[in-house]
Amino acid sequence: MIEFKNVSKVYPNGTKGLDNVNLKINRGEFVAIIGLSGAGKSTLIRTINRMIDITDGNLIVNGKNVKELKGKQLREFRRKIGMIFQSFNLVTRTSVIKNVLTAKVPDIPFIRSIFGIFTKEEKIQALEALDKMGIVDKAFIRADQLSGGQQQRVALSRTLAQNPEIILADEPVAALDPITARKVMEDFKKINREMNISILINIHHVELALNYADRIVGIKDGKIVYDGSSSEVTEEILETIYKGKVEVVA
Ligand code: ADP
Repeated sequence: MIEFKNVSKVYPNGTKGLDNVNLKINRGEFVAIIGLSGAGKSTLIRTINRMIDITDGNLIVNGKNVKELKGKQLREFRRKIGMIFQSFNLVTRTSVIKNVLTAKVPDIPFIRSIFGIFTKEEKIQALEALDKMGIVDKAFIRADQLSGGQQQRVALSRTLAQNPEIILADEPVAALDPITARKVMEDFKKINREMNISILINIHHVELALNYADRIVGIKDGKIVYDGSSSEVTEEILETIYKGKVEVVA
């Protein structure tokens, strides 16, 4: 469970990223965060695993008050939260399976991690994660030989190998063509449904958000201006969020 209680974020230069946010997300929800560029979507997503520190209020994730976590506790907390980025963040000069195995590095002895030595069981788990994303046939080729959609699937497999309870995705399909973007959104949906993993996705394509997420959180100037089911989003609500400007995938 994720709970924002009167959370604000003011950046050191005085810019308000989040302004008194109250939000509760239960295990297994698929939530899309929508809003104009600069509205605070990325800030909201990144406070959850403390990539960004909040400046006011409390954020409770999986029973932990996030701002109080330090050192080992914080590292363990982050292990349960997968993160997906627009740019995939793969080591492109190495193989797909080695990319997925990096998810195991925090769990193995330092000396093994230096030499990249993984057990048979760890390798099988990595292959299983790739299989779930339908990309196991690419396991032994270099990541830079893959298309953007395939690379994002490898990033998802790497996240799954971490056994997360929550996946945070910051504009995960923004670099993909519209057809591939839909396929990757279907992968998120599958992960959400079949593995009961909560998904929070920051996405500027309204149509994709409405089609794939169950719940929409609209933000504007760091404030939540809509929170409800995606099937109940009306044109008026979109206007409130976007001041009339709506971006749609072709
Ligand atoms: P979105 O993801 O909706 O585009 P962001 O969360 O990235 O919005 O940004 C929200 C606001 O915070 C914007 O005004 C942005 O310029 C500002 N902001 C984001 N990151 C920083 C930072 N590191 N320093 C100062 N201001 C920032």
